[in-house]
Amino acid sequence: MTTATTVMKQHLIDPEICIRCNTCEETCPIDAITHDSNNYVVDASICNDCMACVPPCPTGAIDNWIQVVSDNAYSIEEQFTWDELPEPQEAPEGAEVVEAKAPAAPTASEAQKEEGDQDLENKPFTAAGASIPPWSAAHPYTNLYTHKNPVTATVVGNYRVTDSDTDSDIHHIVLDMGDTPMPLLEGQSIAIFPAGEDENGRSYHARQYSIASPRDGERPGYNNLSITVKRVVEDHDGNPVKGVCSNYLCDLQKNDSVKLIGPYGNSFLMPNLPDSNLVMICTGTGAAPMRAMTEHCRRLNKEGKYRGKLMLFFGARSERELPYFGPLMNLPKDFIDINLALSRQADRPKKYVQDVIRERASDVLALINDSKTCIYVCGLKGMEEGVLAALKDIVTESGKKWEDVHAQLKTQGRLHFETY
Ligand SMILES: Cc1cc2nc3c(=O)[nH]c(=O)nc-3n(C[C@H](O)[C@H](O)[C@H](O)COP(=O)(O)OP(=O)(O)OC[C@H]3O[C@@H](n4cnc5c(N)ncnc54)[C@H](O)[C@@H]3O)c2cc1C
Ligand code: SF4
Ligand code: SF4
Repeated sequence: MTTATTVMKQHLIDPEICIRCNTCEETCPIDAITHDSNNYVVDASICNDCMACVPPCPTGAIDNWIQVVSDNAYSIEEQFTWDELPEPQEAPEGAEVVEAKAPAAPTASEAQKEEGDQDLENKPFTAAGASIPPWSAAHPYTNLYTHKNPVTATVVGNYRVTDSDTDSDIHHIVLDMGDTPMPLLEGQSIAIFPAGEDENGRSYHARQYSIASPRDGERPGYNNLSITVKRVVEDHDGNPVKGVCSNYLCDLQKNDSVKLIGPYGNSFLMPNLPDSNLVMICTGTGAAPMRAMTEHCRRLNKEGKYRGKLMLFFGARSERELPYFGPLMNLPKDFIDINLALSRQADRPKKYVQDVIRERASDVLALINDSKTCIYVCGLKGMEEGVLAALKDIVTESGKKWEDVHAQLKTQGRLHFETY
């Protein structure tokens, strides 16, 4: 007896479009997505076509279902080597065609509900924050420019914003968009293509960077934006490496051209109300969206149009490694409540953002309990767990159930994470 060959659709990620943002890997409830230094891939033996990863993907790279012959599905090892998606495999004569099991894609809130149902203890990074914006947020534009129609910006400024005698080389880079429309909101990001090619002669893939300027631009009345870029000189394990895009960006000169796509992001957005409060928690270049939000509020405040509370928790090894330290400390104390967490200070105990959040427990709790407060966390991936634990302790000690408060913060679009 012979078994009929079947033809089905395999869920694959388009390596040409993917910006390696990790959103899909964080979202997949059953860990079917993984990555190496080259590609993000879907394991066909695990994926159940639930579609939870599709709506959050900023580029649409995840939304590919390509015909394969059943015993010839692509392994993750094969996918790691790809530069582009393969053509659909031809169906042998008489093969049974099995349609993809995929149901209609869930809406963002349905996807969030599914994520929220996961066991947070077992998968702490899943659904840590909301996948919807606060209700009053301005509507964002996304994906105006893709790999098919990237745009060019001109560098009009590039300077270091950490002390020159520290190891942390972080740059503030201002890009002029000329006549190209690039409507942006605080909390959104763009992706940049590094110039040049890899050792195999292929163009580099685009890297994502948070916008550091407010919606009316780095300079109001000009069509420009800024980003905050850390020069990567070692990998996450401390081994020396020359990060492709960060070094390209930090070395750019005035008047150089840069190819970019975007904008991305439709949930890490600020409320659009004059009396909303922002709790901003960041480390390193996680300062970028916080700078954008703070500057938007400062400009509104100058016109008497903002009267909410701003509370910032900012972590770094030392003050000299804090990007924008000088301008930040010049902001009036009655405008922003700044709390620094420094982990490498001579003769002082190490402090991380979660320690300082705990020190300010009563003020943080009052803000969490105020429905006009939104909380934003941005920086290195490792900070998520500590920040969540601190918020959980503060809420629990007040006699409330953290699970309930956490769920409410997410369904109301009031708790947001962007870590990388
Ligand atoms: C949503 C989002 C927003 C981001 N916003 C910013 C931002 O505002 N500013 C910013 O500087 N970066 C930001 N990033 C990270 C950025 O996209 C790049 O990953 C980063 O600049 C490194 O790229 P590279 O090409 O220089 O390094 P690669 O050549 O891609 O990587 C070289 C090696 O360094 C490791 N590595 C990558 N990134 C880091 C890092 N940050 N620290 C230590 N090791 C690293 C890699 O694992 C690899 O081993 C963001 C990422 C995401 C997903
Ligand atoms: S761009 Fe889409 S497919 Fe690529 S890593 Fe991000 S979410 Fe995943
Ligand atoms: S479709 Fe569902 S199971 Fe498959 S990779 Fe996406 S989230 Fe994971």
